Amino acid sequence: MRLTAIRREAKAATVRAENEKRFRALAHISLCTWRRVPYKHGVSELSARSIDAGTRYCAVYGHPVRHSASPAMQNAGLAALGLNWRYLGFDVHPESLPSAIAGAQAMNFIGLNLTVPHKLLALDIVDALDDSAKLWGSVNTVRFEAQGEQGEWKPLGEFANAPRKVRSRGFNTDAEAVARALREDLQFESRGKTVLLLGAGGAGRTAALKLASAGVAQLFLVNRTQSKAETVAKEIGRLYPEVMLDLGYPPGKVDLALNATSLGLRPDDPLPFAETHFALHDAAAVFDMIYRPAETPFIKLAQAAGCRTANGLGMLLHQGARALELWTGQPAPTAIMREALQKNVYG
Ligand code: NAP
Repeated sequence: MRLTAIRREAKAATVRAENEKRFRALAHISLCTWRRVPYKHGVSELSARSIDAGTRYCAVYGHPVRHSASPAMQNAGLAALGLNWRYLGFDVHPESLPSAIAGAQAMNFIGLNLTVPHKLLALDIVDALDDSAKLWGSVNTVRFEAQGEQGEWKPLGEFANAPRKVRSRGFNTDAEAVARALREDLQFESRGKTVLLLGAGGAGRTAALKLASAGVAQLFLVNRTQSKAETVAKEIGRLYPEVMLDLGYPPGKVDLALNATSLGLRPDDPLPFAETHFALHDAAAVFDMIYRPAETPFIKLAQAAGCRTANGLGMLLHQGARALELWTGQPAPTAIMREALQKNVYG
């Protein structure tokens, strides 16, 4: 009995000592001038400066948004850049999107990321569209801007005090992120290649257009709802008539099979393609936009078939890294952001 009490007291003393050490470190940091410090795990950890009246904000809006790994990734990037900014997540109903964007604009936010179901809605809400948003037809990044002395629109992050007139400008960083992830994670360059694309939802459409714009020779498009695949095919036919486009499975080998459906998110999901129509050993490389779980049955099957494989984590990283660059005007610390993302997503 006495021994247990002694052990308990010893443990309590250790915890008290650790708390005191943390408190002293925190007090020291808040007294110091702000400096670049390595980001650890969470926003509230000692490596992040305490929030004060000068803290500026970015955020992701989605519905739902609880699953989003963007706050972990972006706060790591902001901390590494030494900025007194924070990145938050808000569950915003689609009908509240106009007022939620206006609210952030009024409160001097730096920018926003938009995820499902806001990317198309935002096209009609923001004050101006960057060419990327016009080209890819959706907005996943908003940058708030104000006018400089010459009347040119500049990122709000460059203004210390809240300007009177602020506008929202919509960008799309998703399309570039797909291409960059394919290049980095699979050493895949689109020009002249043959691709099987599964899915014609928002992400499938963006990937199809990006692949076509990057010079893919032949694209096979498969989607559960045929009419959606037809709409994407028509769009590609109009914009990139040089791409050979087929609705259905390829008769032979492809350089890349890409899953842009949501099949694989749940453990009991079927494969995103019909094994009666296609075999993965006919694909040299396989990309699954899904990153949670890290290995979907689609990826596992591809590995067993000897394909080069990658999941969607790199895509998530690069759309966020580009958004950070648009807000800060600085190169994104991608290695740190990737590490934070991996920690957040895979634990
Ligand atoms: P979306 O617009 O809702 O599209 C969903 C796609 O999945 C459609 O093609 C849909 O087919 C198909 N699908 C859904 N349930 C199906 C089922 N039971 N059987 C067959 N097909 C089914 O969503 P999204 O934004 O394009 O996202 C698609 C996937 O990409 C998701 O898994 C998402 O997590 C992932 N994603 C990843 C990133 C990243 O950064 N890594 C970014 C965006 C999206 P129908 O048209 O027939 O409904």
